[in-house]
Amino acid sequence: MQSAADRREALKAVYEQARGCEKCPQLAATRTTVVFGAGNADADLMFVGEAPGANEDKQGLPFVGSAGKLLEKLLGEIGLARADVFIANVLKCRPPGNRDPHPTEIEACQDYLWRQIDLIQPLVLCTLGNFSTKLLRGDPTGITRLHGSAEVRVIGPRAVRLYPIYHPAAALYTPSMLDTLRADFARIPGLLAQPAPDQPEPVPEVEPEVVQVAAAEPEVEESVREADQLGLF
Ligand code: URA
Repeated sequence: MQSAADRREALKAVYEQARGCEKCPQLAATRTTVVFGAGNADADLMFVGEAPGANEDKQGLPFVGSAGKLLEKLLGEIGLARADVFIANVLKCRPPGNRDPHPTEIEACQDYLWRQIDLIQPLVLCTLGNFSTKLLRGDPTGITRLHGSAEVRVIGPRAVRLYPIYHPAAALYTPSMLDTLRADFARIPGLLAQPAPDQPEPVPEVEPEVVQVAAAEPEVEESVREADQLGLF
């Protein structure tokens, strides 16, 4: 098992990789910064939003605009601060004009999110709105039906309590939605107090095949070395 310090270092390495990402040529060309995510790298509670907006793109931090202020206020009401949690997004780059993320962009970016979840190891994973809820549940059911009910889900190698709630941006100008969001937030401390969900059996690591390499076949030796490098992540 990796220590929290090791997981944090590994998360920094993922950030280093993401900050130069060019998998989505349009987003790479129009962004100011990659907004990887921020907060406690060993948090019990992790939030996943949609994508950075203009303020986030300028500052390189998630949820720093008006939706972020509301998120912070709601966190305060349940006795938590931003520094207690980790906040990330489905997309790490701002879609121009704040348009919806394209399916190809979600697909290209999702590996960063899986690795964040795997390294942070939250107990409760709170999805904000439709994009993160649909991606993390692998199902098109919308947030209106799902908000406010937690379920144990295996994400990557780990089981978490997945808790979909409305996106704070949607609640900003609709008082009834804000009431619902506040009521859903009020259930978070209870979810955090529950025992950690049972973890699935770890998948045994496949031992790299030992290849006897004759001196005359150097290219086989090369491919074995590459497989070892990939095994580091
Ligand atoms: N909305 C999001 O989904 N993410 C942010 O970081 C800011 C606003």
